[in-house]
Amino acid sequence: MSEPGSAPSSIGVLTSGGDAAGMNPAVRAVIRTALHHGIDAYAIHEGYQGLVEGGEFIRRMEIADTDGILHKGGTAIGTARSQKFRTREGRRAAARNMLERGIDALVVIGGDGSLTGANMFRAEWAELLAELVDAGEVTRDVADAHPFLRLVGLVGSIDNDMSGTDMTIGADTALHRIVEAMDALRSTASSHQRSFVVEVMGRHCGYLALMASLATAANWVLIPEQPPADDWAEQMCRDIRAGRLIGRRQSVVVVAEGAEDREGNPITAEQIRKLLEDELGEDTRITTLGHVQRGGSPSAFDRYLATQLGCAAVERLLTDDPQTPAQLIGLRGNRVVTSPLMECVEQTRAVAERIKARDYDGAMLLRGGSFRQSYKILQTVQQAAARPTRPGRRRFRLAIVHGGGPAPGMNTAVRAAVRLGLDHGYTVLAVKNGFRGLRRGQVQEMGWMDVSGWVSDGGAELGTNRDVPSGEQIGQIAEQIAAHRIDGLLMAGGWSGYAAAYELHRHRDKYSALDIPIVCMPMTINNDVPGTELSIGSDTALNSIVTDVDKIRQSAVATRRVVVVEVMGRDCGYLALLSGIASGAERIYMPEDRITIDDLTSDIHAMAEGFRSGKRLGLIIRSEGADSVYNTWFITSLFEKEGGELFDARQAVLGHVQEGGDPSPFDRIHATTLTARCIEFLSEQLEAGGRASAMIGFQSGRQQFTDLTSYPALIESDVRRPVEQRWMESRRLAVIMRR
Ligand code: ATP
Repeated sequence: MSEPGSAPSSIGVLTSGGDAAGMNPAVRAVIRTALHHGIDAYAIHEGYQGLVEGGEFIRRMEIADTDGILHKGGTAIGTARSQKFRTREGRRAAARNMLERGIDALVVIGGDGSLTGANMFRAEWAELLAELVDAGEVTRDVADAHPFLRLVGLVGSIDNDMSGTDMTIGADTALHRIVEAMDALRSTASSHQRSFVVEVMGRHCGYLALMASLATAANWVLIPEQPPADDWAEQMCRDIRAGRLIGRRQSVVVVAEGAEDREGNPITAEQIRKLLEDELGEDTRITTLGHVQRGGSPSAFDRYLATQLGCAAVERLLTDDPQTPAQLIGLRGNRVVTSPLMECVEQTRAVAERIKARDYDGAMLLRGGSFRQSYKILQTVQQAAARPTRPGRRRFRLAIVHGGGPAPGMNTAVRAAVRLGLDHGYTVLAVKNGFRGLRRGQVQEMGWMDVSGWVSDGGAELGTNRDVPSGEQIGQIAEQIAAHRIDGLLMAGGWSGYAAAYELHRHRDKYSALDIPIVCMPMTINNDVPGTELSIGSDTALNSIVTDVDKIRQSAVATRRVVVVEVMGRDCGYLALLSGIASGAERIYMPEDRITIDDLTSDIHAMAEGFRSGKRLGLIIRSEGADSVYNTWFITSLFEKEGGELFDARQAVLGHVQEGGDPSPFDRIHATTLTARCIEFLSEQLEAGGRASAMIGFQSGRQQFTDLTSYPALIESDVRRPVEQRWMESRRLAVIMRR
């Protein structure tokens, strides 16, 4: 019996509309969460078409049926566009098929069309049931047992065009595909000094075009929400010519497929190619990325996002009632949130309507603050290229320094700092080899082209290390800061970088040269610094871990094996927990939870039980700092010994590959946008004669500054991690997902 407040009888999940990477992890999470709560789960194949057809299209799922899909692109349960579901007869058949299986709760994963259809189905449910009873297709008792349809929507769409969520499932993966392709194009374009016009998906939404341009330092971008000024053709040619004059070896223009001019005429890739060839004599090629953007294995973020949302969707269904409108589950400000589904659909459609009505400012307003901010920063970075200095302002001297281990995105940040600093008319100094280099005076003035190509390079060109100055070293640094007349300092780094920056700040009364504004930016794969929920570099590391674990899985599945994968993180379990969720680990050992012998014993029993009931692979993620006695070798040996005939065990220590690799799109975008805020912060302080120092970070998804003076209070005294770690809330998710 399904009544408000009681649990639904059975839950169905379907994917509908265009496919998106991440739909599989979402389906897996819905099914596993339902089973976790003791509710039957059904996968409805081929979207609404399967719901209308019934029969084999609607299949009861066991937990084992969700094995092996987490890492796959597309949707394993198929998607379709169904004409029949648009008809009353179709929806009546769908209701009958559901009732036959006791399904009265649905999770629909799709775009605005699919969610609109779902909402209509919910609204009509009682009438459909009455019609079925009248036609004798369903008994009154059955109809009475399922008086309302519980419904939750998740947005699966590569365009990231839906209100109600900051990120749609699939958008990050699409961005990965685009950025990979554009990095590859850049190398060939640069070799031949060519120009490329890259067309990316996005009929009404410029998200992919905008973010890909930020992440690859494209020279021009055209998006539907913000058509260029009437003289755009001359402007674009002028900017690209200026870029060539300062030594750029390639030019890239990104155009969203729905880009238009201010008259509403489409701007096509071919039109841009012709312009560049005719006006500038550029050898110009077009690359239309097309369906490649939809494909491939989901990124670490999409797997984690989809798992979070899938789990939240089922838990929302448990409390659904007929009085509240159908809800959409999304991510806002890094939190899972629930919003009325149709309000989200309407607001989404309003953007397209504003564009159609040529109310472009209105369209940008609806897109939200971070979209607008990214657009503004992109414009600044692009336009700054054409005018590197601003006359008539005091030339403050800003320095950038790293501290801590290398993190992907460090070069991206230096590039942004140099160019944005020069754009302010400042002198930008780069400190080599961290605070050790600063102490030794390894400081060099940077020019515009010194950072060319750095947006996408992994590693840290300036060099970094874990030196934290103490004693007389502080005085030596003060001398160098005075000698180089450094007015403001940007520290982009990790744990040691924060400690070092704080040391300088703490000694500002003793050494007047240290009485300058300092801003710390979180750049560490470990995500273990204070004042932020997320550090730059960790997304790249997560993708690197997840890709490696996918390969390990493939090799291990053939041999009935438990693999213990050791990941980095020092005293912080962030990488372990998130990579564990994103790669489908059964057990995750982190420094925050002490490992006990009882845990290990019960984990071995659970693993053995799993293998007895058909499991072919066991995956354990262990953070390097989880425990000094129960280390990776110990745990592997224990599982190997106890596995007996059932399974063998191997260890895989991923090591420094996690710190390497070119930065992911997210890390590049965050490195650029945070750097822009840091330069603004330093600029505001200097222009106003201020001396405040701060740590920048993401809190509830927003960029926030925290006073550097509060640093000691925000970190644990005996271990290297912040006092507050919001991501720890996801430990519950890991437990629900494991089997
Ligand atoms: P995408 O953003 O990838 O296009 P979408 O969910 O918007 O995804 P649609 O083709 O609009 O894709 O919708 C998918 C399916 O949802 C349709 O084929 C149809 O079965 C159903 N659907 C859409 N709109 C409605 C509606 N107004 N009433 C009933 N069903 C609908």
